[in-house]
Amino acid sequence: MTRFYCAECGGALTDPLTPLSAVPVPPPYEERDQTSRRPPATMPRGHYAIEPEPWGAPYVPYEDDEDGRAQRRAGWMADERGSLKSAGPRNNIVLHPEDAPGLEMLPDTSMGCCGPAGDRGLNRACPCGKPVATLAADCCTVYELHLDANSVRAQDTVS
Ligand SMILES: [Zn+2]
Ligand SMILES: [Zn+2]
Repeated sequence: MTRFYCAECGGALTDPLTPLSAVPVPPPYEERDQTSRRPPATMPRGHYAIEPEPWGAPYVPYEDDEDGRAQRRAGWMADERGSLKSAGPRNNIVLHPEDAPGLEMLPDTSMGCCGPAGDRGLNRACPCGKPVATLAADCCTVYELHLDANSVRAQDTVS
């Protein structure tokens, strides 16, 4: 198992978590429980997985591809230049938001109608103040927490 710590102050951000080989693909919007606005969490509690593809801002124009989403699992974006795709950070550590309960909110320009879209950069900080993570939780996106690979430190736990 692996536990994640703040790279700045060394404080623990998560409990020990078990790795998954890849981030699971959440069910399509149409198959969600429509009585709840918040999408189901992508990750099961107690686990993490590395997302090798970019996530979040900045977004850049791109030619057609087969998926067309702005990033894996979430969002179609466009501006006057055409369709946009994430050129944001790679190798985010994706986990269930409740597995890092001590994080504090940062000012966030990504708020949707009922939660953050999590596509404008880091929006959660360690209690020491260092931005370490991005929460996505709006009904328009997925429900995931992404630890920033450059802002946290992983340490294997002996069990
Ligand atoms: Zn810290
Ligand atoms: Zn919403």
